[in-house]
Amino acid sequence: MKKTELNSLTLEESKKLMLDLGEKSYRGEQLFSYFNRNKEVNLDKINLLPKKTRSVLMEKGYVNKIKIIKKFESKLDNTKKYLFALEDKNIIESVLMIYPHGKSVCISTQVGCRMGCEFCASTKEGRVRDLTSAEMLNQIYLIEKDIGENIDNIVLMGSGEPLDNYQNTLRFLKIIHDPKGHNTSYRNITLSTCGITPKIYDLADENLPITLSISLHSPFDSERRKIMPIAKTYSIKELIQAVKYYEKKSNRRITFEYTLVEGVNDRKEDVEELSDVLNGLKSHINLIPLNPIKEYNKSRPERNRVEEFKKELEKRHIKTTIRGEKGTDISASCGQLRRDYIEGNK
Ligand code: SAH
Repeated sequence: MKKTELNSLTLEESKKLMLDLGEKSYRGEQLFSYFNRNKEVNLDKINLLPKKTRSVLMEKGYVNKIKIIKKFESKLDNTKKYLFALEDKNIIESVLMIYPHGKSVCISTQVGCRMGCEFCASTKEGRVRDLTSAEMLNQIYLIEKDIGENIDNIVLMGSGEPLDNYQNTLRFLKIIHDPKGHNTSYRNITLSTCGITPKIYDLADENLPITLSISLHSPFDSERRKIMPIAKTYSIKELIQAVKYYEKKSNRRITFEYTLVEGVNDRKEDVEELSDVLNGLKSHINLIPLNPIKEYNKSRPERNRVEEFKKELEKRHIKTTIRGEKGTDISASCGQLRRDYIEGNK
């Protein structure tokens, strides 16, 4: 029989497990807090639980452990990038960014990704496997232990497509939010998706008021299909309908990520179409100048073109920011660090 991954259980599931084992349900709460408040992974050391209970737990279940294998610290800002080894020796990465408003961690949700966006390093070798909830949680807990401080904001914007690993992501959100555990407010969590439309409806129906961030990258279906295969399945119209549903349910402002690629999506007609597409939505655009990768032979626009694009959007009353680049001296955006490591460059 498959063993239960104990540190991937929600509080309710932990309590149920204990009841099934003939224990009181508060034992489940102790187990849950041990993982998610004390950030411990060693069952032998959980003295609160009777020895007998511990040995039954070890028989029926196991605790997923990941390890930091490398850490890169930026000399330009306080950004830190972490490489982790999973139990099966797969490698994932997370980034810690320090802002005036707090500390953010960007975590991975899959090993690799199968979404196939042209300019993204994470997807070039496809998806290896989904991460479990514990593997997502432990990226945060290990970074917190490493810096000796707590994280304020969590972004699901690293390698992988969170809505392609829906159940584990949802479970992760519930666990990290639980007051008996890490107690992170849903408002301090952002989930970024390339736009798996049916899952956006599902997420809206969960009523967790997290910030939804949509990777749009072009307001034209024809262009979007060239750079993002998911656009062949769901049109922008369908995507925006789902986003409006999410907005209505959550009452949250929606963020759109827009990776600027010279000559592809930085033209005047893009600004105009974008403002039409976003009309009627409480939105915010985050412009990301392309981080070039070797498989995608395009450049980012000049800085003044990026500024101009922002101004043009603002003229149309769309809140716009340009993503401040962090840790540029320690390898660039998502998936590049892991890949460099695997290919032996780091
Ligand atoms: N699968 C999720 C999370 C991916 S990464 C999603 O698609 O939203 C977060 C953002 O970085 C996405 O908007 C992604 O399209 C963008 N991105 C990936 N590679 C990039 C690169 N080389 N340059 C600029 N942005 C990139």
